[in-house]
Amino acid sequence: MTENLSILGSTGSIGKQSLDVCRKCGYGVKALTAFSSVEEIEKQAREFKPEKVALVDEKAAADLKIKLADTDIKVLGGMDGVCECAEIQSADTVLNSVVGMAGLKPTLTAIYAGKKIALANKETLVAGGQLVMSEAKKHGVEILPVDSEHSAIFQCLQGKPTNKALKKIILTASGGPFFGKTADELRDVTVEKALKHPNWSMGAKITIDSATMMNKGLELIEAVWLFSVKPDDVDIVVHRESIVHSAVEYDDNSVIAQLGLPDMRIPIQYALTYPERFESPVGELSLSQIGKLTFFEPDYETFRCINLCRKAINMGGLYPAAVNSANEQANLMFRQGKIGFLDIADRVEAVLEKTPHYDNYTFEDILEIDKFAREIGG
Ligand code: NDP
Ligand code: MG
Repeated sequence: MTENLSILGSTGSIGKQSLDVCRKCGYGVKALTAFSSVEEIEKQAREFKPEKVALVDEKAAADLKIKLADTDIKVLGGMDGVCECAEIQSADTVLNSVVGMAGLKPTLTAIYAGKKIALANKETLVAGGQLVMSEAKKHGVEILPVDSEHSAIFQCLQGKPTNKALKKIILTASGGPFFGKTADELRDVTVEKALKHPNWSMGAKITIDSATMMNKGLELIEAVWLFSVKPDDVDIVVHRESIVHSAVEYDDNSVIAQLGLPDMRIPIQYALTYPERFESPVGELSLSQIGKLTFFEPDYETFRCINLCRKAINMGGLYPAAVNSANEQANLMFRQGKIGFLDIADRVEAVLEKTPHYDNYTFEDILEIDKFAREIGG
């Protein structure tokens, strides 16, 4: 169980909810990091009094240093500063809620430092799953999922039989704001509409990933690495209410699911209290109030990103990393109004087709593929 945390990406949606859990459960916060949100991190630092804070943006870090000059908090700059926070001696757990594959280096740093990892940053596993899981194993490090579906699967697997009785994983998807729409209807969709998620309030990048359903493709890959299953043993089902957070099916056809209100503080807290459970700041689930739960097959033709991810993980090597980087770039360009909504899948597919094959890879290879995918993806 966690006692002291380092929170990477503390100013984001997951980061703030993690601090809420820390307030509630009384965990110590030893380090905080962000990209450039000076004001928010200053506020957090004054409340939680960590030993170190880091901002990737050096200018923002210099500003923060001035603002926190009356405290004894050490202010660091750059990715090196973030990594210093990821290996801080006084924390037993690193909660990684950085957005994007920028989270990969600090995840590896935390693994090398032997920290337990509460992982929200799914791109870490999509880009470097093989490397991350093998290094975690080598260093005896536990990776606990924060992503709600993976937390659900992890919870459903508690008490799992020792034989290989797990038949498949049933990954639920909300379907996002464009459920039921055709590709034609989505051609000219605005950023504003894509940012309106029906059930969850999240950062901008993952909200767009939910609209394209790329998020579910990334989560399929995340599940493959976290639970050592084959990609084709992960079924995806659209569940509009976001109450069933995912399920597992055993050989006897028993399906075990985890349910709860859609609030990320539940999976965040479980990653920190595991194997215990504490009282939650989130309300109780009333099934009778919800009334009915619905399930649908995803529309793979309109939401093409799901199968592009399935294809990439089946191909292996760094294809998932390339798909992830192409998506990070296209997602950003869509938010900037530079490309259309349907262009995102087209760009991901174009990069996937041009990516070279790797059997094994290093961290440097991932960086190279990231650069390649962003160049090709244009
Ligand atoms: P946000 O965009 O809200 O927050 C991202 C955080 O990362 C911020 O603190 C941001 O700092 C920091 N950051 C941004 N870019 C970089 C960078 N290049 N290097 C280091 N730090 C950086 O994202 P979310 O909280 O929504 O998501 C975080 C992760 O959790 C993602 O991987 C997402 O897929 C996953 N996740 C999120 C869920 C949610 O409900 N939000 C649910 C499940 C998973 P700054 O504020 O300075 O920009
Ligand atoms: Mg999720």
